[in-house]
Amino acid sequence: MPPPPRVVDLGQGRMLLDLDFRDTEGLVAAYLLPEPEGWALIETGPTTCRTALRRAVSTAGVDPREVRDILVTHIHLDHAGGVGAVAADYPRARLHAHEVGIPHLAAPERLVAGARRVWGEASDQLWGPVLPAPADRLHALRGGESLPLRGGELRVLATPGHAKHHLAFYDSAIAAVFAGDGAGVRLEHSSRIRPAVPPPDLDLDQLFASLEVMAQTEPRLLLLSHFGPSPGGAADLARYRSAVERWRDVALAAAREQPEAGHVAERLRAFDLEGPEGSAADTESLVSDYSLAAQGLLRYFRVHGDLPGVSA
Ligand SMILES: [Zn+2]
Repeated sequence: MPPPPRVVDLGQGRMLLDLDFRDTEGLVAAYLLPEPEGWALIETGPTTCRTALRRAVSTAGVDPREVRDILVTHIHLDHAGGVGAVAADYPRARLHAHEVGIPHLAAPERLVAGARRVWGEASDQLWGPVLPAPADRLHALRGGESLPLRGGELRVLATPGHAKHHLAFYDSAIAAVFAGDGAGVRLEHSSRIRPAVPPPDLDLDQLFASLEVMAQTEPRLLLLSHFGPSPGGAADLARYRSAVERWRDVALAAAREQPEAGHVAERLRAFDLEGPEGSAADTESLVSDYSLAAQGLLRYFRVHGDLPGVSA
């Protein structure tokens, strides 16, 4: 049995759980927040992280029966693929997601098929079985709701862009935004923020507007799912916008030469390797890969009218 996963105290009873995705520290995070009675969990990770999550919750000293609410920022498998499986481990938890994501948690066939198209044979090994979540425990969110927490409340923010059903959560007690993938990927020990711009429904205009929505809460802490506190706090929201704009420009120039994902991915990779932190590029690819970004951006360019081609 590997050592227990890392649990990091964020103050006022809030905790970061490292889900040791791909047996690697610092890739996928979940968060535990104290409620007046019980606990809320943000993100479950994929089914392959189920044991790590259970061990982290136990290390945190939390009784699984006291987890009352499980919220996911969006239904991509690295954030929520495990919801159906872990529902049994936290039998009293309501399972919250954006209303657009809820049907896919109840009947994940399309989610699984989409993942297999993107990741091919590696998909099942990466994510594990994606089980249907019990329908009677699912609860739909759309933004604007709030949940009582010890010392404050958790406000639900609609933050589409990375995906149209993406949510972020604002914790008023520690003035933190749980940003999911909405503020990019910034791994520990790296100062670079990498765009998280995958298919199938990336929308950069919405993504930029959602950065404003998060900024308007004036957070002191920005907590990413990949991974942990962003070192620059709220200023990283603006930095993220610039990082996405740079990738957009590189990708669009590449796509105008040759509108193929392989070519665009190669240009994005070359662009990163030229930068001061080129060596971090391969670790970041474990959670946000160039090929995926190229597919996401190409589709957005076509829908947005930057490139000739298909409609939405
Ligand atoms: Zn995602």
